[in-house]
Amino acid sequence: MSGQHDQLKPISARPIRTPEELVETGLVRAEDPSMGAVTGRYAIGISPAIAALIDRNDPKDPIARQFVPDAAELNVVPEEREDPIGDLAHSPVEGIVHRYPDRVLLKAVHVCPVYCRFCFRREMVGPQGLGTLSPEAMDEAFAYIANHTEIWEVILTGGEPLMLSPRRLGEIMQRLDAIDHVKIVRFHTRVPVVEPERVNEALISAMRASGKTAYIALHANHPRELTPAAREACARLVDSGIVMISQSVLLKGVNDDPDTLAALMRSFVEARVKPYYLHHPDLAHGTSHFRFSIEEGLALVAGLRGRISGLCQPTYILDIPGGHGKVVIGSDAVQQEDAGCYTVRDFKGSGHAYPPSD
Ligand SMILES: *Cc1c(COP(=O)(O)O)cnc(C)c1O
Ligand code: SF4
Repeated sequence: MSGQHDQLKPISARPIRTPEELVETGLVRAEDPSMGAVTGRYAIGISPAIAALIDRNDPKDPIARQFVPDAAELNVVPEEREDPIGDLAHSPVEGIVHRYPDRVLLKAVHVCPVYCRFCFRREMVGPQGLGTLSPEAMDEAFAYIANHTEIWEVILTGGEPLMLSPRRLGEIMQRLDAIDHVKIVRFHTRVPVVEPERVNEALISAMRASGKTAYIALHANHPRELTPAAREACARLVDSGIVMISQSVLLKGVNDDPDTLAALMRSFVEARVKPYYLHHPDLAHGTSHFRFSIEEGLALVAGLRGRISGLCQPTYILDIPGGHGKVVIGSDAVQQEDAGCYTVRDFKGSGHAYPPSD
């Protein structure tokens, strides 16, 4: 680490996981009366790399906003849900979500090195979350994948799949290797950004332990997250033969201006990460301070077209509440019915109210 970060060393040496550590590191004021209620409800996690990125002199720092608990999380609005994208409705066995015919999510772990304050699975992840799949549940999940020959792609998500030890991850990859109809393994991860030092040879060879084509969807939301260390971690992964794509969430106060969004997409492309999805924020509990309307999101995304390279264009996506899957926003799949009310069409052609009325 360079000298300019010396003053941050004490806070960046170890992860921040408790309310006391938030106060000790100056990220939260001790006298903040609502903080106990927030941290009692949702997990806290700030990795050393992220702690070092936070500008504690900026009360509106976009990195802090993503990871430091905020009293605004206590404000739950009626349209928010415990399971905003409907994972549970499409889970045939523990750890598997099978919403689209040709691909499944495999959720082996429900812990993360950071806890994003806008997380769409915030009720499932964390120390009090769904935990790690037992060996028996893992056997059942693999049996499900093996018995469903239409499954072409397995997406490892969570939680954070790269929190698995290289040994356990390597075992999962070898078991997938034995299933002929699975051709693609995709990892949904934030690790190259939030814990770049974890991306070492042991982890990479575990990820490559199957003969399947491997993709990584890297989650980052602000250009400052693509630090030199994060870019080097991406370079090690891409050089190993893994294809990288991006996922970001449009977030008020983090990346909801054209310059930041353009810089984020360019940072991905420079790091050999092809912009893939830009998500409209999900209706997770206590996250309304991060959301804005679909019109505002559309205007931001439309502003990227023409302004920056086609390589830098992500697809703007809404995950339809209730488990109906993803829809591209900006196509005729979205129709405005009333001020702030829409009908959105899912991949099967059915219409759904957004925000949902039930
Ligand atoms: C988001 C998601 C996927 C992946 O969707 P792509 O459009 O292929 O990126 C797969 N299954 C479930 C259940 C999902 O929520
Ligand atoms: S890393 Fe992903 S799963 Fe974990 S808290 Fe952030 S958004 Fe949620």
